[in-house]
Amino acid sequence: MGQRIGRQERSKKLDLVLSETMKAEAEVQSNKKEAEEPKAQHQRLTPVFGVADLKNGITSFFMSTGAIGLYNVGQSCCLNSLLQMFFMNIHFTRILRRITVPLHAVQKRRNVPYQMLLLLEEMQCGKRKAVSPVNLACCLSAYKVKLFVQYDAAQLFLTLWNLIKEQMAKPELVEELNGLYTICVQEHLACQKCSHETKRNSSMLTLPLPVLDSNSQALRTLEDCLQYFFHPEELNVHNMCFCVQCGRKTPFLQSMKLVHLPQTLTIHLKRFCFEQSAYIHKLSHYLPFPQDLDFNAILTENQCQADDNEKAAWQYELFAVVAHSGSTSCGHYCAYIRSLTEHKWYCFNDSEVCQVLWDDVKCTYGHSSLHWGETAYLLAYMKKHPQ
Ligand SMILES: [Zn+2]
Repeated sequence: MGQRIGRQERSKKLDLVLSETMKAEAEVQSNKKEAEEPKAQHQRLTPVFGVADLKNGITSFFMSTGAIGLYNVGQSCCLNSLLQMFFMNIHFTRILRRITVPLHAVQKRRNVPYQMLLLLEEMQCGKRKAVSPVNLACCLSAYKVKLFVQYDAAQLFLTLWNLIKEQMAKPELVEELNGLYTICVQEHLACQKCSHETKRNSSMLTLPLPVLDSNSQALRTLEDCLQYFFHPEELNVHNMCFCVQCGRKTPFLQSMKLVHLPQTLTIHLKRFCFEQSAYIHKLSHYLPFPQDLDFNAILTENQCQADDNEKAAWQYELFAVVAHSGSTSCGHYCAYIRSLTEHKWYCFNDSEVCQVLWDDVKCTYGHSSLHWGETAYLLAYMKKHPQ
């Protein structure tokens, strides 16, 4: 199916700079509560959909059938997997249901959140085993997200998220969306020749974790990858930075402190790698990730810039895995998602959806000798105790 993988940089710093493009106002997040009474949601939605439809939808989707597939339209397995990850997240759908419906037909066709809402509603009708995302795909093509093009799931996730955010008319929903997904870190750069230090707050949609260390050795677990990501890095030789105090390029120590973690934390395992040449290859080695993740047990005091209240909420459980199989030039995506209401795992493979066991999800840990095998690429963790 030919998944084309986007360019990836080695340096953590560059990732941060890239993440700046989403510019989510650095320290916005103060963990917004998205709890609002279901009654009010129904009322707000009445102008769009019949309440009876919606009720029926919610019941059939979340209570009984659990999951509906999406047909593959023009190699849309990557898009489908990401859509399922959005739609199975009840915190996201609570926001999506409150969008302002565009007035005119043309605006409706071109509005990504609205088209997502229509698709969600169609899925929630619960009458079919799968529905077609073709209208949403057409809508996305107006924003250069074309069909028959293979995407890198991490890049497409960022593109979709930015489109959703830009096209939500209500600022309060944008703020809730930021609160739901945005990770806040503080980047420290310290000159090693003088005492000069600069700090910068950054927001990221995903934690882009290298799966190899600086000596190109495979990191062994997700926890190791996280520790490596937050480990201070020396910038010397070719990576020296200009120090305003020294007036020249000097070696720097770059470190990152974790400021805030969102309700839905998305981790990007950088399994697609450039080495020496333009040739991209996939790192398919075994890399286990836990169902329960406690950041307080992973990071040192020094790697955090957060109060006790914030840190108390850093307990996560695995919610979704977007897995890639095949090679960088020819591959396929599917998503394993644990229903937040039923607490059961499902595998969403385009139109095919089936209930699976945690052991099946663990098959995405990877295997060095099975390069074509399925490997986890994006991981979404959900806060256990939202603040
Ligand atoms: Zn200096």
